[in-house]
Formats: sequence, structure tokens, C-alpha cells
Amino acid sequence: MTTVSATRTQATSLSATSSQPTLRNGSKGAAVTQLQNLLRNKGYNISADGDFGPKTEAAVKKFQSSKGLVADGVVGPKTWAALKGGAVSNPGTPAGSKQVTAYVQGKPSTITVVPVGNGKYMRADAAKNFMAMQKAAKAAGINLTATSGFRSMEEQKVLYQKYLNGTGNLAAKPGYSNHQNGISMDIGGIGGYNTKAYNWLKNNAAKYGFKNDVAGEHWHWTYKGGGVA
Ligand SMILES: [Zn+2]
Repeated sequence: MTTVSATRTQATSLSATSSQPTLRNGSKGAAVTQLQNLLRNKGYNISADGDFGPKTEAAVKKFQSSKGLVADGVVGPKTWAALKGGAVSNPGTPAGSKQVTAYVQGKPSTITVVPVGNGKYMRADAAKNFMAMQKAAKAAGINLTATSGFRSMEEQKVLYQKYLNGTGNLAAKPGYSNHQNGISMDIGGIGGYNTKAYNWLKNNAAKYGFKNDVAGEHWHWTYKGGGVA
């Protein structure tokens, strides 16, 4: 009796909730059936028999790989979260992607943002193009860095207040910045207008859908669509 009780306690402490225990090859029970049903909903051809065998393990690994997770076949909190993260499967979403509340003309919507380095994020299509542009610039000897990408409402409010106080750069009214839509990036490493980096961007950014669209801000570039995405 004591052994069973100890095992149960450990199993619970390994996961956020008891309905989402850590599962692996050899696991059995209702949670396994739930896992198998989630995988089936994502198009994996396995039976929901509550028995975690090699087929379930292969499906888990494939799913983890499609989400940029470590493909170890062990279903922990990250894999559970990815499995429950919406009905629409989106294979190929880069690792570290997250859902955020974006704003366009004051209206909120949910978008997926992707890390672009320096702890910054951009909307998935903009991120893909920013990183491709960054790579091409690097090949030309120019080091472009992400200084400010997607901003939450709270972050924009802080910047707007600094602007009003005269202690910060021009900042759009909260809800109205392209940074809040995940399509604007303040790029570090440019150094001003008429620099090698600025001239490179002037000649190449359009290929990636980016435009320097705020007068007086050589660092502010906005993704306008198209490019390599
Ligand atoms: Zn900006």
C-alpha cells in the first residue's frame, strides 16, 4: 500500500494537473486514451486503446518534431500544451512560437509570434523575412540585430508615456503601433542614414517585404507583405 501511494504522489508532482501526467512508452490508462485521441484529431493514424506502445510513441515523436519540441516520445507539459493548443494543426511552426494579443487600429486579435533573437518576437511571416534579411546582411558583412519587435499593450503604454514625458522616442498611441501587430522591427546595428548598413537595407529590404516607414527613424522597418514568406 505504501509503495502505491508513493508512486501516485510522484506521478502527480511531475505534471501540472493529474489529468495530464507525464506519459511514455508503457504508460496505460485514461490519460493515454486522451493523448491518443488528441493525436488522432491531428491526423495521426493510431488507435485510442489506452495503451502507450511503439505506434503511439512514433506518433508523439513525429508530432513533437513538427512543433519544434524535443522529439523524445515522452509526453510532458510542453507536449500536452502543444497538443491542446488549438484544433488546427500547424506543422512547421518554429520553436518558441507563442500566441499573443495583437492590435491593429485599436482592434485586438490573436496572432502567432516567432522569436527573432535578442528575446524579441515578430508575427510569423514578418519573422521569417526578418531572419532571411538578417542572414543576407550578415553575408554582406552587416550585423543587424532585433532591438524592438512585437510589443504587448503594456509595453506600448510604457513607451507612449515616455514619449509624452519627453523621455522617449516617438511612440504611437497604444493599440495603434505596427509593433503591436508584430510587423515592425527596430533594427540595431544600422548607425544612421548613409551608413553601409542603411544603404544595404535601402537596396535589399524590399526583397524581404520591409520598408523604412517612419521619417527620422532609420531603425524602424515594417514588413508590408510578400518577400520570402
Ligand atoms: Zn519602431
